Amino acid sequence: MSISFRTDSDDEKAFRAKVRGWVTDTLPNDLRGWSTRPPFDRALWWHRQLHAKGWIAPAWPKAYGGMEATLNQQIILKEELARAGAPEISAQGINHVGPILMAFGTDAQKNRHLPPILTGDETWCQGYSEPGAGSDLASLRTRADIDGDDFVINGSKIWTTWAHHSDWIFVLVRSDPDAPRKQAGISFVLIDLKTTGINIRPIKTLAGDEEFAEVFFDDVRVPMENLVGDLHDGWRVANALLAHERLGTANPQLLFEAIERVKKVAAATGAADDPYFRERLAELDIDTVGFAAMFAHAVKITNAERSLGLDASIMKINGTELLQRICDLLLEAAGTDAALIDRIDTEAGPIEIAPLFLQVRRATIYGGSSEIQRNILSKRLLGLPG
Ligand SMILES: Cc1cc2nc3c(=O)[nH]c(=O)nc-3n(C[C@H](O)[C@H](O)[C@H](O)COP(=O)(O)OP(=O)(O)OC[C@H]3O[C@@H](n4cnc5c(N)ncnc54)[C@H](O)[C@@H]3O)c2cc1C
Repeated sequence: MSISFRTDSDDEKAFRAKVRGWVTDTLPNDLRGWSTRPPFDRALWWHRQLHAKGWIAPAWPKAYGGMEATLNQQIILKEELARAGAPEISAQGINHVGPILMAFGTDAQKNRHLPPILTGDETWCQGYSEPGAGSDLASLRTRADIDGDDFVINGSKIWTTWAHHSDWIFVLVRSDPDAPRKQAGISFVLIDLKTTGINIRPIKTLAGDEEFAEVFFDDVRVPMENLVGDLHDGWRVANALLAHERLGTANPQLLFEAIERVKKVAAATGAADDPYFRERLAELDIDTVGFAAMFAHAVKITNAERSLGLDASIMKINGTELLQRICDLLLEAAGTDAALIDRIDTEAGPIEIAPLFLQVRRATIYGGSSEIQRNILSKRLLGLPG
């Protein structure tokens, strides 16, 4: 099923057909339909295919080797990849540190780091969260002291996605512990993960994979030329792309795919024969169409080159919570098979149930949790006390 509130222009229709054809021919079956991340080497292989096609960085300007696609083309690409069940590739290089370097980096930093991000020769991870600083990120304590031309870094990061597969990390560090506001004493620094004094310990997730890790820094010397933006101005650098990150988590195609999965499983187990089940499925179907309409509106705003602002928080809450509700119904549809980690066989082919259910628990946490988004809306939209 495909309901879209955008109409493709003739050029966009042609682009969609091109993407669909290429993905059909190129994406092997073992890389389709993963609820968790596929093994790193396989994900990297897929990264390289997209790079060879020129589609690895749709939003990057051509001057930096990107595709410079229109926003609608970017959405089409996303939709078609989701429709084919393509795996996630590591987003931290392409979506985060790359654009940050374009906006705030020196020429030397751009020349050094952007090309290997595109080719996949270097993988990046994001070192923001710490054991005592998640939602309240500005409380971070990993410390950067200046010694000659180096920072000396001590502390630790946690929930660092794919740190154990990465070559570089971008971190927020406390460079001025005496700053009057805690946001004011933070710097944004690039660190080579091979540097002496770094220890990485993977963490196994609820879904059974080792998606993230803890990263420990023990007297790690980092040249000050790896500072991005001004000293102590890292908060501004880090926040520059947050709204984009939030819109990036909202892809109606993923919801449509999940609804289709529920329908297939319900048909296989007989759950679809129950009128009460069908009623709830219809309700989620309608909510998904509503979300697609909201997404189209958000895209229009962004197309008009206006910042999404608070809409990004609304999209994040609705998209991720709706995905979780759909996956709750998926468990019900599966009945006694719901607890199986292996794929279950249906007439429509093998389908994963439990791994997807477990995997979407995270969606309301990363990129700013639902509670924090609601706090933002109550304060800034409704004017309630913070
Ligand atoms: C899959 C996944 C990948 C991640 N990848 C990375 C990564 O690569 N790099 C990185 O730096 N971080 C990463 N994170 C970490 C993520 O940014 C944090 O988990 C998130 O910011 C929440 O912080 P926390 O886990 O410390 O929870 P806490 O901040 O301790 O929050 C715990 C609970 O309390 C609630 N809460 C907290 N403060 C308030 C408040 N003021 N009002 C109401 N409720 C509140 C929260 O909503 C949450 O439910 C990842 C997280 C996940 C789940």
